Amino acid sequence: MTIAIYPGSFDPITNGHIDILKSGAEIFDKVIIAVAYNADKAGFLPVETRVDLIKQSVSDLANVEVDCFQGLTVEYAKKKGANVLLRGLRTSFDFEYELQLSQTNNVLYNDIKTVFLITKPEYNFISSSCVREILLNKGDITNFVPKSVAEYLNAKHGI
Ligand code: ADP
Repeated sequence: MTIAIYPGSFDPITNGHIDILKSGAEIFDKVIIAVAYNADKAGFLPVETRVDLIKQSVSDLANVEVDCFQGLTVEYAKKKGANVLLRGLRTSFDFEYELQLSQTNNVLYNDIKTVFLITKPEYNFISSSCVREILLNKGDITNFVPKSVAEYLNAKHGI
């Protein structure tokens, strides 16, 4: 059984994240999408909210689990019995960053393998930071995030 961890900030989860997650769920037996957080660094949304919003967005994917963790991703992966990290690539900027991260993780834990999936063109421009920016400026985020996430964010922070 191959278990993959899909780690990230997911602050908030976007349609681009979901696209990568769905493809990962077709490839691996189980995918754990895990919100990585730092107790000293508050994000835009509290971790529990990020986890809840992900849960609402992936309830149709039977082999996907939602979780959160602090600390090194490789230590979390070991704990979960996973030796694959799933990451998404949009542009060459992502690649430069991800290359370094993947090689670092590999030094920390030799058995870990990072699998990269390329996003579909229609999601290429989407990032959590641009969703936050649109929201803070009272713009419409409907086309960027799952429906339930848009409803929550609009009610709480938006238009
Ligand atoms: P991190 O802070 O670890 O970069 P993110 O939540 O921003 O966390 O992203 C998690 C993963 O999802 C990363 O591999 C990132 O490249 C990928 N990702 C983010 N946005 C998209 C998108 N629109 N399409 C595909 N992959 C994406």
